[in-house]
Amino acid sequence: MAVSLTNRQVNKLLEEIVGHDGVLVLKACDLKKGTTDEGIAKKTKLKLSTIRSQLNQLHYRGLIRYHREKNVDTNWYTYTWFTNADKINEVISGEWANYLGKIEKQLDYESNYVFYSCGNGCGKLPFELASEYDFTCPDCGNELQNINNKSKVRELLGEIKEVKSLMKQLK
Ligand SMILES: [Zn+2]
Repeated sequence: MAVSLTNRQVNKLLEEIVGHDGVLVLKACDLKKGTTDEGIAKKTKLKLSTIRSQLNQLHYRGLIRYHREKNVDTNWYTYTWFTNADKINEVISGEWANYLGKIEKQLDYESNYVFYSCGNGCGKLPFELASEYDFTCPDCGNELQNINNKSKVRELLGEIKEVKSLMKQLK
């Protein structure tokens, strides 16, 4: 199944990869009918020079493909651009898999350690380190107290669930 380019998370991710203008141009390219440079300009309100440089980059990454037709009178080529759904899916799946690995590692860390903090925003320390400092903040000297990271764990679990369900939609 093709990824929905209007999904908020998909947009955010694509923007990190191809930039804001890149996403606008990518969304203006059509999956089936295709869009010409001028069509993209009409949809995005971007300058043609900007569009052409974005198209080059998107094409280089394999996210779009084109069909060209020669005008017999002018000898000029007209390019029609299509989104390459398979490649977009592949790029997004790869990025999500990376991200998922990262938050799963973080969850593992958060749920396996007890953390301590001074309450002054100096950062938190795992039990082992806090006890090495005799439960005194190494930065401000305040007493280190056990902190509850249940909400952080809940937040991470929620994020993992969301990314997994988004990944499922791609299959
Ligand atoms: Zn402190």
